[in-house]
Amino acid sequence: MQPSAFNVRVPLETGDVFLVNTMTDAQLVASADAARLLDRVSGADGGAAVLDAESREALATFTELGFVVESREADEDALDCRFREFREDTSQLRVTILTTLECNFACEYCYQGETACGGRPAAKMSPATGARVAEWIAAQLDTVRPRRLVLTFFGGEPLLNTPVMIDLAERCWRSCASRGVEQVVSIITNGLLLSRETVSRLLPFGLVGVKVTLDGDRETHDRMRPARGGQGTFDRIIANVGRVADLTPVAIGGNFSAETAGRYPALLDFLGRQDFAGRISKVAFKPVIRQGPAGCGSTASACDGCHVADDQISMLREETKRRGFPTADGLHMGPCELYRRHSHTIGPDGSLYACPGFTGDNAIAVGHIAGAPDPVRDAAAADFGHLAPWRQCGECPFIPVCGGGCAVASHAELGDMNAPSCHKRVFESALLSLAEETAGLTSGRIQCASQL
Ligand code: SF4
Ligand code: SF4
Repeated sequence: MQPSAFNVRVPLETGDVFLVNTMTDAQLVASADAARLLDRVSGADGGAAVLDAESREALATFTELGFVVESREADEDALDCRFREFREDTSQLRVTILTTLECNFACEYCYQGETACGGRPAAKMSPATGARVAEWIAAQLDTVRPRRLVLTFFGGEPLLNTPVMIDLAERCWRSCASRGVEQVVSIITNGLLLSRETVSRLLPFGLVGVKVTLDGDRETHDRMRPARGGQGTFDRIIANVGRVADLTPVAIGGNFSAETAGRYPALLDFLGRQDFAGRISKVAFKPVIRQGPAGCGSTASACDGCHVADDQISMLREETKRRGFPTADGLHMGPCELYRRHSHTIGPDGSLYACPGFTGDNAIAVGHIAGAPDPVRDAAAADFGHLAPWRQCGECPFIPVCGGGCAVASHAELGDMNAPSCHKRVFESALLSLAEETAGLTSGRIQCASQL
């Protein structure tokens, strides 16, 4: 027996120790003596032969909670099993649909727009393609047989192609209804065209929320996310959110850079003063991913998993929590959608992508709803299928909740999606925060198995 490699400890000012196992998610406050017991666990009997009854009881609890495992191989097997189960999960079919790459904003960090990079026109899903996407999803429902279909509309700006979005939602709703599958729908939008009418039309088809992007307080947002004509967009977005907030929960997301992160607390204060503050379902900010030579700008993805700019994201999470808004705890961040077999992203022309962060780059499409064989896409799909950057993460205790970080960030920033995109400090600060919330003042230090 031995301590799990996924144990993390935070010594508390009381002398006790806050213990977390990132594989089992067990959390407990142990006395320093009990925690020292973990250090003594080794050998076939776990040192149990020389333990008194109290220590044996503590050891049994540690074992039950996963703090003590049979061997290093047992930890590795559990990790493989966790990622395998996550990958093969059939309880949900998750589909993100980009009904258009067109956008009515001119964000300074974004590659999308009325024309994509190099002057190519931005693609828009036609009604006919939308119908074929719905057929493809119906076929997936028959193959995967999930309990739930999770549809996310993203872009570009999805509200620039509202008819196709609503038609798709309705077609999928019918497919789900006839198969006894629950459908939930959400929209990720810049908010400029958000209206009660659109929300009302989607509610019968399972709309559960809208996510709107704000890049800081009014002045910062208007500079970072102006309309195509250069006009500010903040006031209109806030008014639109106010108009729909009684119909559907609204999540607020934002993309920050080193320069703009400091403007978010003012945004949080502003949001807290709005009538719709109580309807905000989540607030989560993520850093802009700077694109390397493969792209022609920078982008922000649909997902909430990306986390760079470690200190700033930790600061923003704490500021968000301090104001009472729901947000991610910063510890349970992965593995991400990319590693789910039954999670798909579909571009405007029906191309399939590994995740929303890889859209718009045909070089890394992994298929097409038409299903015709394509050696390049098939090879890309195989590459994504084998991605396991966490295998390069050695003894890191956060592997079960990280999975090696965001492959989009690795691809864009490191030029290698197989490399971990490591932001361990974010996990460490989240752990300290969790320890303080759960157990009171900490010593501000973290210990993991490899340091003991
Ligand atoms: S690879 Fe990055 S952008 Fe894609 S789902 Fe994972 S965390 Fe999100
Ligand atoms: S990317 Fe970093 S934090 Fe994540 S598992 Fe690997 S070493 Fe740990």
